[in-house]
Amino acid sequence: MPTRLVIPNETAPGERRIALDPGVAKKLNESGVSIAMQEGAALSSYFKDEDFSDVETVADTTVLYKDADLIFKVQPPTVDELNQMKDGCTVVSFMAPHKNKEMMKLMCDKKVTSLAMELVPRITRAQSMDALSSQASIAGYMGVLMGAQLASVFFPMLTTAAGTIRPAKVLIIGVGVAGLQAIATAKRLGAIVEAYDVRSATREQVESLGGKFIDTGVSAEGEGGYARELTDEEKQQQQDVLAKHISMADVIISTAAIPGRPSPKIISVAMVDDMKTGAVIVDLASEGGGNCELTKPGETFEYKERVTIHGPLNVAGELPIHASEMYAKNLFNLVSPFITEDGDLKLDFEDDVISGCLLTLDGAIVHDQYKNLNKSGGAE
Ligand code: NAD
Repeated sequence: MPTRLVIPNETAPGERRIALDPGVAKKLNESGVSIAMQEGAALSSYFKDEDFSDVETVADTTVLYKDADLIFKVQPPTVDELNQMKDGCTVVSFMAPHKNKEMMKLMCDKKVTSLAMELVPRITRAQSMDALSSQASIAGYMGVLMGAQLASVFFPMLTTAAGTIRPAKVLIIGVGVAGLQAIATAKRLGAIVEAYDVRSATREQVESLGGKFIDTGVSAEGEGGYARELTDEEKQQQQDVLAKHISMADVIISTAAIPGRPSPKIISVAMVDDMKTGAVIVDLASEGGGNCELTKPGETFEYKERVTIHGPLNVAGELPIHASEMYAKNLFNLVSPFITEDGDLKLDFEDDVISGCLLTLDGAIVHDQYKNLNKSGGAE
């Protein structure tokens, strides 16, 4: 029997992305899946209901969820949404398990099979399913545009009748997926770009994009290509070298993160005090508390009427059409190998990618990282 896939409206405040776009809907239809979407759910991404051919639209969520075998979402399912879902269905979404213990408990109680998009393994085969990367590259691009808008200077060098304008100096801290896209975007806008990361492998990547790599002498490669947390000595060494570059920057885009940990504090209050008047910090690490000690996640303010500190949240959602298209493709690439000829979904739990992002199954938390999460729903 064909799987019934359901796409509800995203209810989280400010979430403009949707987990389906017309192109992916067409491909899923061709593979035999039956699709229903909440009426008007994609309007926040500028897609109209009629853009989705062969997709049923349903106004009432109770009706929508009643027969759903498979649910695609962007934000983790809420308790209210889970309560409307039938037992034993499959949900594919970002899950933020550590922040959502009640959701985890309910998914176990209802024997929901859940796949967490942030847990898709970062292996070559899974690159087309990697929603962390697709959304981070949008964040890197948008972060630079935000910085350019808040900046008090041009990014490119300009020769004008009123004199020559020197290019802006942009400093990128953290050269993962977002940082690399930020370097490329700032270069395209004509800025002089410097970049820094604790992983020495990033030097070559920075230079290949035309940026200058800042060598602090600290190398902190961790497991799986990620960074590890720095020791106090390493932090001091990093700060000593970075301070000079921070003081000369017109715009800083910071993206540094360590999986499962709060964002490392790299830009101290003293460093901000030393920055140029009119400089800007766009702290893309705000979701994890920020890379600057002064960042207020979700807020923009002027520090001592000199430096603008911007702490945007859900940056990928600021570019909803492409963010939704890329995310929907990631979802499609993850599940489509497991759709049978008659449109049924039969996940293979032995598959590396599926087992890597499988969070709950048959009433239990099965992901190693979250097995010990307090199942009572209370704070640990
Ligand atoms: P991330 O969002 O976890 O972190 C962003 C960057 O911050 C990282 O480059 C990290 O090294 C850096 N960082 C951490 N602490 C720092 C500090 N104190 N100072 C300066 N920089 C600091 O990273 P990400 O974008 O998710 O990418 C992490 C790694 O995963 C990269 O090596 C990337 O190439 C790799 N990756 C692999 C695949 C794949 O093979 N499928 C896909 C995506 C990413």
